[in-house]
Amino acid sequence: MKTAEIEWINSLTYSKQHGGHSSNEPLPAWFALPQPKICHGKVAVIGGGIAGISCAYRLIKRGYEVDLYEAQPELASEASSNPKALLKPQLSPNINLADQFYTEGFFYSSHIIQSLDFPVETSLNGLIQLASNTSLQSRFAKIKDKRELPSSFVQYVDKESASKLANILLEFEGLYFPKAGTVNIKSFCNALVKACGNKLTVHTGKKISKLEYDSEWKLYDNDLIGQAEIVIIANASAAKMLDACKNYPLSPLPGQLSLVAANNTSQALRIPLSYEGHIIPASKGVHFIGTTYRHGREQDLAESERDHQLVESYLHKIAPQLNLDFSHAKAWIKSRSVTPDHMPLVGPIADKTSFNQAYEKLAYGNNRIKFEEAQYLPNLYISAGHGSKGLSSSLLSAEVIACLIAGESLPISNKVYQAIHPSRFWLRQIKSPLAPL
Ligand SMILES: Cc1cc2nc3c(=O)[nH]c(=O)nc-3n(C[C@H](O)[C@H](O)[C@H](O)COP(=O)(O)OP(=O)(O)OC[C@H]3O[C@@H](n4cnc5c(N)ncnc54)[C@H](O)[C@@H]3O)c2cc1C
Repeated sequence: MKTAEIEWINSLTYSKQHGGHSSNEPLPAWFALPQPKICHGKVAVIGGGIAGISCAYRLIKRGYEVDLYEAQPELASEASSNPKALLKPQLSPNINLADQFYTEGFFYSSHIIQSLDFPVETSLNGLIQLASNTSLQSRFAKIKDKRELPSSFVQYVDKESASKLANILLEFEGLYFPKAGTVNIKSFCNALVKACGNKLTVHTGKKISKLEYDSEWKLYDNDLIGQAEIVIIANASAAKMLDACKNYPLSPLPGQLSLVAANNTSQALRIPLSYEGHIIPASKGVHFIGTTYRHGREQDLAESERDHQLVESYLHKIAPQLNLDFSHAKAWIKSRSVTPDHMPLVGPIADKTSFNQAYEKLAYGNNRIKFEEAQYLPNLYISAGHGSKGLSSSLLSAEVIACLIAGESLPISNKVYQAIHPSRFWLRQIKSPLAPL
């Protein structure tokens, strides 16, 4: 176990990502890789948040030229405008697929941040995830029991050690990640854009409303505004407005962060704490304290007193003596783009009707038939649905798409690839038509 664990951690490095996964199971026909594309013209990316900018960056690293289309007047104005987002791994007792994807993504994003020649506003000096409820307590105990992970990556800390690391009194034990912390996503986006240099052309204030294919892709707002051989759709939940993505189960999930003035006790907090919510050490006298999930209120982007009270109650549970005054709290409210299984949609886009026709026999459990390999819309990809973990998932997702386009071996195992493949929801519908997605 120990050797396997260390091998796994060691495999989470950029240099290994280009070696492929030798013990990979082959991909089934319905998740077959798309045709790679040597592109003589431009690649178009729709959406100028961290997902889209990451795609531009990974493709430009391979010599492609990119046109980036953003609806707003400025890049990174929506969810990716978060000035204090957490960058952290996601651990499970049994190394499940989400754990593999998001933890590898955590390492990959950290690697890119450190390797950029342009500054990114970060504080990656440690973070504690507190075992603040019985489910987390049981999960962390299993992780401690079953997994032997290097202390440079994670340490199980009791209440006293956690309090010492945080420099305030805490009510719970937890997992300490010495290399996790916070990133200003917008500054990360800006640094990636600078690193793209003149191979990137940014078109702000351009809301793409239609795509048409006629030997290459044509992009429209009201008029035809661009053409490209390859298109990557990375505009979060708005992807559903484009015909090619209308059948994907993407939805917006708004959330609020409270901006609260620090007091003498809270000033001492040294590292971010994550629990049902999270609190970031004060910067210029203000804490960012999160965060809420407005389920069933997809369009509600108004400041909410109830949301302030909710994050205050989460905070009170883990550190009651902080006693922060929320009465003058300000709010930062944006929407995440989510999927039903909490994994993003990353990869080639198929036509749903053709997919259903090609694989309908799977409904009868007939796996012995030799199915034709999946067909995709020509050179059309998606990176969306990054939920609450876009910092960990966007760069790795961009690398996956860049590898698919360039015909390189994937930086993730085939099993993880299937867990983020956009067609997975249609496959589930074929196999269990009555089950929710
Ligand atoms: C309250 C809150 C707290 C969060 N905290 C964290 C955290 O701590 N850690 C973390 O990792 N993640 C966090 N997230 C999630 C993270 O912010 C997102 O996962 C990430 O920013 C998603 O990036 P994106 O590029 O997919 O989407 P976005 O940043 O939303 O970018 C999509 C872009 O597409 C543009 N667009 C839309 N339609 C069109 C169109 N038709 N044509 C052209 N452009 C278009 C939009 O204007 C937007 O700029 C949080 C999110 C919220 C809401």
